[in-house]
Amino acid sequence: MPDSQAPAAKQYVIAQPEQAAIAVEGSDKLFPVRRIWCVGRNYADHAREMGHDPDREPPFFFQKPSDAVMPNHSAIPYPPMTKDLQHEIELVVCIGKSGKNIPKDKALDYVYGYCVGLDMTRRDLQTDAKKLGRPWEPGKSFDQSAPVSAIVPTSKSGHPFKGEIWVKVNGAVKQKGDLAQHIWQIDETISFLSDYVAIEAGDIIMMGTPAGVGPVAVGEKVEGHIAGIGDITVTYTKG
Ligand code: MN
Repeated sequence: MPDSQAPAAKQYVIAQPEQAAIAVEGSDKLFPVRRIWCVGRNYADHAREMGHDPDREPPFFFQKPSDAVMPNHSAIPYPPMTKDLQHEIELVVCIGKSGKNIPKDKALDYVYGYCVGLDMTRRDLQTDAKKLGRPWEPGKSFDQSAPVSAIVPTSKSGHPFKGEIWVKVNGAVKQKGDLAQHIWQIDETISFLSDYVAIEAGDIIMMGTPAGVGPVAVGEKVEGHIAGIGDITVTYTKG
C-alpha cells in the first residue's frame, strides 16, 4: 500500500481494549497499568509454609494481565474452575518511568507510588501446575485476580521498607507480618528485574506475601492493610 493511503492516525480493526488503570489518592487522574509483575516467595515464613527452603535465592517473577486489577471496595464473583481461592496480601510498587540495568542505589527514583494489593490465587490450580512442571497462569493470572487500593505517590508515602502488613477474612486475622521481612527489598527487586527486561512506566510489582495464606469463600469479606500505604476491602459473591 502506498504511504499516501496510510491512515493518518493509528486505527484498529477491532475496538481498542480499555486501558487498565488504578486510582491515585488525592487526584482525579489515573495510573495506567502496563504489566503486573509478581515476586514469588519473598517472605521466609511463607516460603516455608509452601514447602520451600527460604534461603536467599534470587527472586523469581510471574505475571498477571494488566486488566486483572480491580478497584478497592469491589464485589468480585468467585472465579471459575477452582475450589480453593486464596488471599495473598502484598505491597504493590508502581513504576513511574522506564529503565533497564538500574543500579540498586537509583532504583527508588523509578517508583511513582505504592498501594495495597491482593495476589488472589486459585491454589488448587497452582499446586497442580507445580506438580506437572507447567506454567502458573491458570492459578495466578485469571480475571479480576488483582484487587488494589488507590496509589499513594511517594511524595506522600516515602518508601516503605518496614511497617505492618495484615489481612483479615470476615474480621479474623489470617496473615500478619512486616515489610521488613521482605527477603528482596523494593530497590533490590527493581534492580534485579531491570537486568532481565526493560521495566516500563505503568508496570507494577507485587512484592510477595507473608505466612498465613488461606481460603476465601463466597460471601466472605477480605480486608487488607499496610501501615502508611492504605487499606483494601473486597467481598466475594457467587460466581
Ligand atoms: Mn503472591
